[in-house]
Amino acid sequence: MDVSRETSAVSDWQYSFLEGLRSFNIELEEEQLRQFQHYHQLLVAWNRRINLVSRKDATRLEIAHFLDSLLIVPELQRRRPQTLIDVGTGGGFPGLPLKLALPEMNTTLVDASRKKTLFLRHFIRETQLAGVTILNIRAEALAQSHAGQFQVGVARAVAALETLIPLMLPLLRPGGIFFAYKGGDLKNEIDASKPVLAQYHASLETVHTFKLPGIQKERKILVICKHSEEK
Ligand code: SAH
Repeated sequence: MDVSRETSAVSDWQYSFLEGLRSFNIELEEEQLRQFQHYHQLLVAWNRRINLVSRKDATRLEIAHFLDSLLIVPELQRRRPQTLIDVGTGGGFPGLPLKLALPEMNTTLVDASRKKTLFLRHFIRETQLAGVTILNIRAEALAQSHAGQFQVGVARAVAALETLIPLMLPLLRPGGIFFAYKGGDLKNEIDASKPVLAQYHASLETVHTFKLPGIQKERKILVICKHSEEK
């Protein structure tokens, strides 16, 4: 897509999205950009009736939600997972943008809210996106049916690490990775999660820090690995 304002019918949000993608070295094809456009339209329309994104963020969806979700794309491109689960996905973040960017990846989006999963089903039906499973279920009930099935787990703005780790780690295969999208000062949260990390045979590998354009707060993404063998 042509990113120069003068020569194309690219709207402001698309222009800012394309700039953002470029600054994080994320490449998307025309067809993928069209899917993001569709997602944008539907989010704006449905957000009038159900609370998918905050009012404040609704004016800069392309950065606060799309680009933010996509920050781990370069890392996923290196690791090439075939399966991803997003727990507490809400309006699809970060799992759905990741699926749009990496279409080969089988993606499961989970949320306890029926309204939010209805929105996601609507989008999937309209775009005929293959390889997406939407589950309207509480994460606590997932381990029974989906234990050890995923190579990657993601969660953003769902719960504290101490609560998330027992929900996410059982879903991962040995050697799998949980990317926890967080912000702020995490020291206390990380300290508090240490016993539960050990209990679930996992360790915190690294914390990535990102600065999104126009957004004050830093985004931190914790990379938590499930050990291949129980140590
Ligand atoms: N990840 C999205 C939504 C965050 S809001 C984003 O970053 O925009 C938190 C979401 O998690 C809500 O949609 C809520 O319904 C869901 N949620 C909270 N606890 C849950 C649980 N135990 N199981 C499934 N979904 C849960």
